Amino acid sequence: MIKNLTRDSIKIAYILGSARSGSTLIERLLACSSHIQGLGEVIHINELFRENRMCSCGKKISECLYWNKILKDTDTLDFLKVQYPKNTLWDKFKLMIDLYLWKDLNFSENYRDNNIKLFSTFLKLRGKDILIDSSKIPLRFYYLNKIRQLKLYPVHVVRNPLGVVWSYTRNIEHKSLDWKVPSIKKACLDWKRVNKFTEMVLKGCSRRLLVRYEDMCRNPQMELDRIFTYLGIPNVKIDDILPLAPSHMIAGNRMAKKVITEIYDLKSWESGFSEYEKDRIIKYTKKYFQKYKYHNEIN
Ligand SMILES: [Zn+2]
Repeated sequence: MIKNLTRDSIKIAYILGSARSGSTLIERLLACSSHIQGLGEVIHINELFRENRMCSCGKKISECLYWNKILKDTDTLDFLKVQYPKNTLWDKFKLMIDLYLWKDLNFSENYRDNNIKLFSTFLKLRGKDILIDSSKIPLRFYYLNKIRQLKLYPVHVVRNPLGVVWSYTRNIEHKSLDWKVPSIKKACLDWKRVNKFTEMVLKGCSRRLLVRYEDMCRNPQMELDRIFTYLGIPNVKIDDILPLAPSHMIAGNRMAKKVITEIYDLKSWESGFSEYEKDRIIKYTKKYFQKYKYHNEIN
């Protein structure tokens, strides 16, 4: 089956960007289109089944009819192979060296075939034109983009680091889990590292789109128009899709399980951080803070 697929026959909108940047919201809005199927963070697909985790619809994966139907058609699929490569230190190191040498990375046929099989199953069962993979991992994008049967549409989502760092360090949603709250400095460096790495893998891509979370909150219709035009499919009207019930996405954060009634940017950081803390965050993230034009938004 895989050999019969022609070049670019599977279209995938791949969402990149740091955690807490609003990628789940953006995927959910896009997936309202009758042309799009949102898969969620495919990078976690193995854990989803191995640990019988919750689907975003609120059911355990073994009880979710949607996933059971997909599973029936993917019985020969190796989910562990689908999600490789994860963002391990070795993977990153190897990528840095290869990108530096401008060398073509070789990936295993297993990885290619299992991903193609998963994506084709979705296309066949759901009958949509475009799939969304919001794994975010730059390295996964880099590898998928080299598979000739796939046509990738990278969407790089960025959010003001002040909002991201606030979400990481103050708005803790993983209290009960094994979650160590990072320092402001560490959260800033993480944000910077992910965006730097994302820019690296997007360098030279003929297709790429930058979406600022704040613009999506300020004017969702305009931003959606822009993304749908980029993907080459008809637009949806924001007023027609709200309130938006949860679907069946892989992992994601708690946002995936909530009903969305309105889109707004909760700027708790504005009054929550002291001026000293804000200055530190801007200092640590300076280069990309300016690149994404957040300096224009500081009073
Ligand atoms: Zn479900």
